Amino acid sequence: MNWKLGIMFMCILWISCEESTMTAFEKEIETFYKVFEEEAYNRGVDLSIDEFDLHTELTFIDDSNAIGFCRIYADGDQEIVLDQVYWDNASDNEKEYLLFHELGHCVLGRDHNNSENEMGTCTSIMQSGTGACNLRYNEFNRSSLLDELFLN
Ligand SMILES: [Zn+2]
Repeated sequence: MNWKLGIMFMCILWISCEESTMTAFEKEIETFYKVFEEEAYNRGVDLSIDEFDLHTELTFIDDSNAIGFCRIYADGDQEIVLDQVYWDNASDNEKEYLLFHELGHCVLGRDHNNSENEMGTCTSIMQSGTGACNLRYNEFNRSSLLDELFLN
């Protein structure tokens, strides 16, 4: 083997090792986070989730009312915890909603907002889940909910 071939071989090994260290869940999360950054960017908000010390974890959450939460530690570390049972049964749309809500807390620093329109539908992704408004997140209102998320 000559030296050029040797270096190429090492690169291929390196790349495949990098990829195999990511779990299927981490890859899935990364895809949603990219969409979050893109949607922010499309609205003039330039952010990179990598710049936050954000760790995302899938686990069984004891509190039956919680499907996810964002925790911010005193040292700035952040953690998004998602409920395994909910996640495993959620559609892509439901997963995006949940993640974007938690990123709203962790990355955008937003609190809950239970505002509703005249139909009683929540006008913010940041609705608490315990308020009176009805949550709808679909192809018809996704764009306006994302406007509200990034521009408030
Ligand atoms: Zn929340």
